[in-house]
Amino acid sequence: MKVEVLCRGFPGKADVGFLGLSNVALITAESERILFDTGAMGVRLNLLHALEKHSVRPCDVNKVVLSHLHYDHCDNAFLFPNATFFVSEDEWAYATNGDDLLIPYGIVEFLKGHNLTLAKDETEVAPGLELISTPGHTPGGISLALNVGGNKWILAGDAVKNRVELATGHADMTLDPTASERSIAKIRKLAHRVLPGHDGWLKVEGERVIAEENPSLTITLPEGIKGGRDGVFRLNIEALS
Ligand SMILES: [Zn+2]
Repeated sequence: MKVEVLCRGFPGKADVGFLGLSNVALITAESERILFDTGAMGVRLNLLHALEKHSVRPCDVNKVVLSHLHYDHCDNAFLFPNATFFVSEDEWAYATNGDDLLIPYGIVEFLKGHNLTLAKDETEVAPGLELISTPGHTPGGISLALNVGGNKWILAGDAVKNRVELATGHADMTLDPTASERSIAKIRKLAHRVLPGHDGWLKVEGERVIAEENPSLTITLPEGIKGGRDGVFRLNIEALS
């Protein structure tokens, strides 16, 4: 089994709006091409390029797990018409009855017209890949636990958005802080390695959370606008120690 991050999440917030940069991961397991989340509309072309680099056509993706239905995780779902989509029962109930403004217009209708599996805790996506219920950020958040050579790797979506949330056990921007704490504790207990919704891979060693990589973001201003280094700003995230 291989796991590759196709679009990289970034843990920063901006004052004028959401950056919406979340992780999109490709899992290759035997003949299966499985995506965990699909990213926001802004990364659509980057996602298609990344798939091409891995010689995967969108029509080859046979399963898509949506950690929850916020736009930065599911905007690009419609690129994968042949896939079976996994959404938790609770998230489906929330999205079909609720009024969360971060759920994109049209996603429910799209999913209704496609192959949709309403998942629960312990639903198997493929051999060695199991969904675990991790509510809090939204009522139906799910994470994907992968069995990799006896170790558990967890793709957490926004149950854990970044290294600080995994290290402290508390989540920012959650609909239910108590449920979030339980979900983070559940992930800490199970995982050897965690991919948060908006940060790089984290290793869990007992009480320690170790960032394996330091995401960066480069913002380029139009020529003629001064600032940064010749109009280029680089934001680098340094590891917690
Ligand atoms: Zn998110």
